[in-house]
Amino acid sequence: MKFNTSLLHGGYSRDNNTGAILPPIYQTSAFGHKTAEQLENTFNNHEPGFSYSRINNPTIESFEKRIAYLEGGIGAVACSSGMAAISLAILNILRSGDEIVSSASIFGGTIGLFKDLQAFGITTNYVLDQSPESYEAVINKKTKLIFTETIGNPKLDVVDISAIARLAHSHKIPLIVDNTAATPFLVKPISFGADVVVHSASKYINGSGNSISGVIIDSGRFDWDTEEYPSLLETKRFGQFIYLSKLRGYLFRNFGSCLSPFNAYLNSIGLETLGIRMERLCNNALKLAEYIQSNYKNITVNYPGLKSSEEEKKNAGIYDDLIRVSVGLEDIEDLINDFDAALEKMPYQGGIQCKKSMC
Ligand SMILES: *Cc1c(COP(=O)(O)O)cnc(C)c1O
Repeated sequence: MKFNTSLLHGGYSRDNNTGAILPPIYQTSAFGHKTAEQLENTFNNHEPGFSYSRINNPTIESFEKRIAYLEGGIGAVACSSGMAAISLAILNILRSGDEIVSSASIFGGTIGLFKDLQAFGITTNYVLDQSPESYEAVINKKTKLIFTETIGNPKLDVVDISAIARLAHSHKIPLIVDNTAATPFLVKPISFGADVVVHSASKYINGSGNSISGVIIDSGRFDWDTEEYPSLLETKRFGQFIYLSKLRGYLFRNFGSCLSPFNAYLNSIGLETLGIRMERLCNNALKLAEYIQSNYKNITVNYPGLKSSEEEKKNAGIYDDLIRVSVGLEDIEDLINDFDAALEKMPYQGGIQCKKSMC
């Protein structure tokens, strides 16, 4: 199945109970069972099925199956937000005293989270550029995972996932990739060796900005050494599903950061158009980047799709006057007009107006 077809049919095809071709919204907190024993078994994860929507729910499961299929994982757990997904994806394996190695160009909220985790004895060592040597330099015996984003935030530095995955695996630690900005339309990190992928589904996956949500997808490939990762000991018996079973059966369930069935439904509907939206967004972003680069000479444009010199990209850091633009689905003419109007009013370099004609 090719990408756009899999957005419509990948992972699950129709509702088991009714045959409905879109996932019905099971807006219910609990599920009835024929016997008390059956309910107990389902609730305790000894039998498949649904008992309580904090743990799982058919509408949410259909979204999880589709995104897992799109990312090439063995399964997924949907969460109440991208931040919940990142928190749970890492806390699922870490303990007090463990360390994270992370790219420094990541979402501000994630940096805040890593700072919060210091109070629980979890330290993060940051890497300022994306070279494997820089990552390797800060890995030590306490390092339990490498965290990065496919397209760095806000520098837009693109990480070589294969190289970082090889490095992580040579140290017997997993690579967790936040793929929010790229989506599986552009990059499938698992196919390049990432072990776990996380998303803020609030962005391109949902596509309409109507719900906050996140998702964790597991490749099922990392060979967890439970001496190094003792928190996974309890679910060792689930084999390839050791990470996902631990997540759903313990931390995710007990933190209570579940997604609402209605929001899962909105995400599933949004996902269907991910391909055509991403095509349009990338085209718009490239055209806008080219337009600003050729018309405003004293504005440096950093867009991974631009043909500009490597040196510029290397030097592009975070400055006080950096503006990160997230281009939408609007007509490109309207976007350009809007930028023209804003940039021509912008005080630039000591108060000189940046008129298009002057720049
Ligand atoms: C928005 C975002 C998050 C946080 O997601 P929320 O759904 O807002 O909690 C995490 N990572 C990246 C890259 C993001 O853009």
